[in-house]
Amino acid sequence: MTRYRFLPLVQGFPGKSTEHGGLGWSSVTLLDGGGRLVLVDSGGFGMRSLLESRLDAHGIAPADVTDVLLSHAHYDHAANYPLFPRAAVWISAVELDWATSVGATFMPLPELYAADLATSQRTRRITADGEFLPGIEAFAVPGHTPGSLVFRAAGEHGPILFSGDAAKNRAELLSTEADMSLDPAASGASIRRIRALWRESPSTLLVPGHDVPLRWSGEQPHYDGERRAGIRAWFGTGLSDTTFFDLTTEGTR
Ligand SMILES: [Zn+2]
Repeated sequence: MTRYRFLPLVQGFPGKSTEHGGLGWSSVTLLDGGGRLVLVDSGGFGMRSLLESRLDAHGIAPADVTDVLLSHAHYDHAANYPLFPRAAVWISAVELDWATSVGATFMPLPELYAADLATSQRTRRITADGEFLPGIEAFAVPGHTPGSLVFRAAGEHGPILFSGDAAKNRAELLSTEADMSLDPAASGASIRRIRALWRESPSTLLVPGHDVPLRWSGEQPHYDGERRAGIRAWFGTGLSDTTFFDLTTEGTR
């Protein structure tokens, strides 16, 4: 059975700006196993140079990536699939139909990318729950968007569950309530489904769309790893004069 090595490339962050809309700081992960390099979500435009350097640090060229999995069509998860020219791009058929039918809206959907995916030879539509690549399953979790998926991969040290934005962060997983949902009742049911999948195996690592990975140990989920997040701003008179804002102070444990 194929088992994948877990290579986190970008850590998600659970927050919004107060004056400038969503941050879109999503989790991006690479899975290495069975002759495949599988990117789980692709990040947004602001991550492009970061992705390049983090892939390079692993000795991986973009053309080495065999598959890109998209949990849903929002820009901060989907926008970078064109950077991986040889990869098959996997997305829910329901999600792609929805994303192409709504056109340009004020939702965070990259409408031109959705239109491209609808006709691309590289697109692979996921139409049912279950295994679609060796050792990787998809499950429908509607609510945040109509065709949101979670992915579960067989990892070297146990299952790895990618909840995407169906459960963006620890607060949503604990409360079973979702911010930014097109269907709050469906989101609640989907988060409960994610929790059930999570608890099928005590060794499961859950990677939320916008938070530090979590393990369910004892009574509730605990972060597995350190949060790292900050902003460096130019408020001074020269490029070397920067102010650093640490975004990890609260809730890191
Ligand atoms: Zn989203």
